[in-house]
Amino acid sequence: MKLTDQVGVVPLIGPSYVTRLKNLEIKTVRDLLYHLPSRYVDFTHTAQIENLKIGEQVTIVGQVVSIQSIRTKRGKFVQIAKISDGNANIEAIWMNQPYIIQMLPIGTQISLSGKLSFWGKKRIFSFPQFEKLIEGRDTVHTGKLIPIYPETANVSSKWLRSRIIVALQSIESSELEDYLVKKTREDLSLIELQDAVNKIHQPKNDEDHILAKRRLAFDELLLLNIENNLERIKWRKNNKSPVIKISTNEAKKFIRSLPFKLTPSQNRTLTEVIEDLQNKFAMNRLLEGDVGSGKTVIAAAAAYASAINGYKSLIMAPTQILATQHYLTLTSILKPFGISCTKVLGGEKNTVDADVVVGTHALLNKNYDKVGLVVIDEQHRFGVNQRSKMAELSANEKHPHVLTMTATPIPRTIALTLYGDLELSTLDELPKGRKPVTTWLVPPSKREGSYGWIEEKIEKEKIQVFVVCPIIEDSENETMLEVKSAVEEHKRLQKVFINRKLGLLHGRMKNKEKEDVLTKFKNGKYDILVSTPVVEVGIDIPNASIMVIEAADRFGLAQLHQLRGRVGRGERKSYCLLLTESKSIKVTSRLKAMTEIKSGRELAEIDLKTRGPGEVFGLKQHGYGELKIADWSDIGLIKKTKSFADKIISNQVAYKSIFDYYRLKKSEY
Ligand code: ADP
Ligand code: MG
Repeated sequence: MKLTDQVGVVPLIGPSYVTRLKNLEIKTVRDLLYHLPSRYVDFTHTAQIENLKIGEQVTIVGQVVSIQSIRTKRGKFVQIAKISDGNANIEAIWMNQPYIIQMLPIGTQISLSGKLSFWGKKRIFSFPQFEKLIEGRDTVHTGKLIPIYPETANVSSKWLRSRIIVALQSIESSELEDYLVKKTREDLSLIELQDAVNKIHQPKNDEDHILAKRRLAFDELLLLNIENNLERIKWRKNNKSPVIKISTNEAKKFIRSLPFKLTPSQNRTLTEVIEDLQNKFAMNRLLEGDVGSGKTVIAAAAAYASAINGYKSLIMAPTQILATQHYLTLTSILKPFGISCTKVLGGEKNTVDADVVVGTHALLNKNYDKVGLVVIDEQHRFGVNQRSKMAELSANEKHPHVLTMTATPIPRTIALTLYGDLELSTLDELPKGRKPVTTWLVPPSKREGSYGWIEEKIEKEKIQVFVVCPIIEDSENETMLEVKSAVEEHKRLQKVFINRKLGLLHGRMKNKEKEDVLTKFKNGKYDILVSTPVVEVGIDIPNASIMVIEAADRFGLAQLHQLRGRVGRGERKSYCLLLTESKSIKVTSRLKAMTEIKSGRELAEIDLKTRGPGEVFGLKQHGYGELKIADWSDIGLIKKTKSFADKIISNQVAYKSIFDYYRLKKSEY
């Protein structure tokens, strides 16, 4: 039997199960063997019947001395068997499984795993896993660490367990021959491939399945790294791009025109970007930097370089609010150099003519010629497809340079693997003079008091306040419920702050209305801006120095950190109030981290542990970077895999053949 064979060749798997297995995405023998347990139940502890204790998870072995189906008072059928081990006996009970009567005739030797509990006043072994004991054959469902598999309707763990064992016995051993040589395995402390595939399904102890998982996780990460590396090589080969050169003088002129001094990491990033632009192949760079670290100016510099070389730049932002703000920022930076900017927030297909075009995904509907640069802000909010479409927009044959930017604080090691097809720049400090935002957790009892305090702040210091309404549904886009809750909160707060002007902002408003609201807020016409969580990305309002977040427990720490980054941009001391109704210790201690930790990256690492990487990196929505075996929080293994993949790509490590790696890939046959 081969890995690539259809799963129907496995003995005991008939046509009806072949169909059911498709729902679990199991088509080949390989898919079946790589359908890994999600957990294990420990049935290794065995006991004599006379020593059974209530609630203890154990395995007993004995003989069936009687068995019958009886009807309970409530009309249900239960099956009861009396089991004896020679010394003592006990009754075992199952619910609605009449076939057991035929399966376990009197005299059958069986092994049962489960717990002793009370059935009424009677002590009974309830709903145990069981199997017949067969001379010379190991147990499968009892008496050991039992794997529990991700199941769907009609395919139980018990069924999977027995078939996977058959598959493991029937597979030709050359099929699982290791592509890593012994020396490499030893260097990386990895067990052999075949050993790993066996032990993940039939571990003798915890160490077995831990080591097995680690080995298989390594394979998965290695493949991802190699694929990303190959993508990057392919990109360079296939994407000839305009050469964009900028002289030291021109660069200096730009930097001197800015109202501030660049931070060291902005300077470093700028150098990296300028070097990329001079290449004959297109830049493909990810710029990662905390909220407020100053990514926009890097985009502006690249657009400047592009324009003075006679090429257009397209800058795409995830929301209209942010696109408009970028448009204003870029205009103010670039206009003095005679570089024209325009914005596209919607509208019909036509040709847009300006040096720099800023917009939402509406940019994708327009025609352009001579595009030299594409910038995508908050890239995780766009699907992979939208991104590649963006790069194809240019009417010229040459591929534009691509700069993607994100404030999602992905640990560097993870980013290098996840985005291994991209070059990476990081802005790892905030501009000087930023004051940390004092953060408080506000329980229900202090809500009224905090409103009083805010009122006083507005009155005395003329500051402005953001109020962010809760995320209600787990969705990338704002939902109707969220809009409704913002509208209601706006109404409610109007009664709390009777002397204040309150603005309202949500995604269902017309562009013009949104712009009006933001302009008014920026010009101080509103004291308080109530909004849906859409403000999360990028609004820059220096006079806003209090951020109030409703139902803060519904947000991830990284998200809260981004929201908090909306304040603390001006001279004044700033505050972030996290309102929560939750009394759960778990929730409040997670939020407590916000009051103590100021670094987005550290918060993301906590998120990573408590909520999982799918949530933290916004990967979930896009099905991007999803791992089946490995875990993004296993930084140590990720590091090892990455450096091993790099060695392979640069040919410092001999490997049998590249096909060996593709053999690791699931369902490609
Ligand atoms: P983000 O990285 O979140 O996109 P922005 O580019 O919006 O950050 O920058 C945030 C604010 O910091 C802006 O008001 C910008 O003008 C300002 N800024 C950017 N770089 C610097 C710097 N080196 N020194 C001082 N202020 C800066
Ligand atoms: Mg930004």
